[in-house]
Amino acid sequence: ASGYSLLRDPHHNKGLAFTERERDAHFLRGLLPPTVASQVLQVKKMMHNIRQYQLPLQKYMAMMDLQERNERLFYKLLIDNVEELLPIVYTPTVGEACQKYGSIFMRPQGLFISLKEKGKILEVLRNWPEKNIQVIVVTDGERILGLGDLGCQGMGIPVGKLSLYTALGGIRPSSCLPITIDVGTNNETLLNDEFYIGLRQRRATGQEYAELLHEFMTAVKQNYGEKVLIQFEDFANHNAFDLLAKYGTTHLVFNDDIQGTASVVLAGLVAALNLVGGTLADHRFLFLGAGEAGTGIAELIALEISKQTNAPLEETRKKIWLVDSKGLIVSSRKEALQHFKKPWAHEHEPIKELVDAVKDIKPTVLIGTSGVGRTFTKEVVEAMASINEKPVILALSNPTSQSECTAEEAYTWSQGRAIFASGSPFAPVEYNGKVFVPGQSNNAYIFPGLGLGLIMSGAIRVHDDMLLAASEALAAQVSQENFANGLIFPPFTNIRKISAHIAAKVAAKAYELGLATRLPRPKDLVKCAESCMYTPAYRNYR
Ligand code: NAP
Ligand code: MN
Repeated sequence: ASGYSLLRDPHHNKGLAFTERERDAHFLRGLLPPTVASQVLQVKKMMHNIRQYQLPLQKYMAMMDLQERNERLFYKLLIDNVEELLPIVYTPTVGEACQKYGSIFMRPQGLFISLKEKGKILEVLRNWPEKNIQVIVVTDGERILGLGDLGCQGMGIPVGKLSLYTALGGIRPSSCLPITIDVGTNNETLLNDEFYIGLRQRRATGQEYAELLHEFMTAVKQNYGEKVLIQFEDFANHNAFDLLAKYGTTHLVFNDDIQGTASVVLAGLVAALNLVGGTLADHRFLFLGAGEAGTGIAELIALEISKQTNAPLEETRKKIWLVDSKGLIVSSRKEALQHFKKPWAHEHEPIKELVDAVKDIKPTVLIGTSGVGRTFTKEVVEAMASINEKPVILALSNPTSQSECTAEEAYTWSQGRAIFASGSPFAPVEYNGKVFVPGQSNNAYIFPGLGLGLIMSGAIRVHDDMLLAASEALAAQVSQENFANGLIFPPFTNIRKISAHIAAKVAAKAYELGLATRLPRPKDLVKCAESCMYTPAYRNYR
């Protein structure tokens, strides 16, 4: 390759870090200024540039630009500054990027598969330059974060999630494939936006939708085999549960909104027991929001309690109550319940308002997964605080604008007693002279390590026991020092080590369950995980 094309290939470009010898050997003389810089210096310079931008969206664009220019530097930056850059490449900033995707869009990333490609999806997959794919993150854009239907502009999500698979879980970037399936959008603003990049029609549903997805799932397995992980991301719940059930027996599929969220939150709750006492079975849980996240978390909590106590699931589910847009879910409700809500319809008189449900159910743990902001009002938090010495309050809706309450509100209204974590990050809060550091219940704790564990064991199916194993591994990473600060999640700075531990536990489960195909089983799975992780150090070109 010519030096000129080397500089324009993001997989190979090192910018000023090309050495004198490389400049001679690869026809780079004169194409670069005389300075030779180290990767460390390049990171310093890029961070300096990024910090100069006022707006998070500008930082996001600078990061995307870097990814397109020098992939290794992009990952080095992300890994070395994970706490600072996670909110840029993922929630909350990625949400804004998706909303404005049409106008900030420069170069296409990932694969777009629309209704126009029906009958040709295998060909589309073959247009992608990389052949050895290990993880696909796919969305249809219908429920992007808590922002609703963003159609084709949802592409920011699979791109962002996969960059975390690489940075946090060590999956090679070349084996990651972001995909957006465009079946139209019901978002009127986008349909009327002249800059919209997607299909300008209302969403296909029913058979037309099912057929396109089936062709896609079939083509993926045909092209990449049985061991490619397909992560469903930000599908609306009327499709998400069905897709997971339908393809869970034939493909290695995982829904991060349902299963990943559940695993992360369960880890946080297990860790929280160190602060509030008791076992999971001693607690009572109330959810606001009974969709993918809410029922997914609820089901995994019930499963864990059932494993711990040998009680049947039907019993352990009774400790968990959910409120949806119509109020508390109860068995006497007249309207037909969606199938994923049915296990949660317990005997109780109807209650409309959350605050009344709190007062009546008396939960020890309150979890917000409604996608609607400001719903944990002063009254709600005060009710939690009057029932509990240390109320556990998780405001999980993303992005920040949709959070059920802010960290400051949770601490202030509970007089500093709440154990609080949120989906999108909040800065530390000072209350009565004490500093409270809110934890972030971020799915990025689990899915990269889970994915690594599946890949390194050659797993062919995802099993609930793997989610439980991942939760346990994450909870075990919270230190006494973290607990002393009221944290129920570990800091992100150690995330690659955490991912390796999660991967090892998940892989161990895969072997135990007979779902692993990579034989023989490596003896030390943590070492194995660490050694197969991608690192973004530059290669030497001879
Ligand atoms: P979803 O499947 O659409 O579910 C939303 C649920 O909230 C539905 O049950 C809905 O009720 C209910 N709801 C909507 N408005 C409400 C209101 N005003 N009062 C009470 N309930 C209301 O969405 P999802 O996938 O579960 O995601 C929900 C939110 O969780 C999103 O903001 C997402 O970003 C966030 N999330 C966070 C994490 C994390 O923190 N790690 C992970 C995943 C998701 P109906 O069923 O009656 O319509
Ligand atoms: Mn999601």
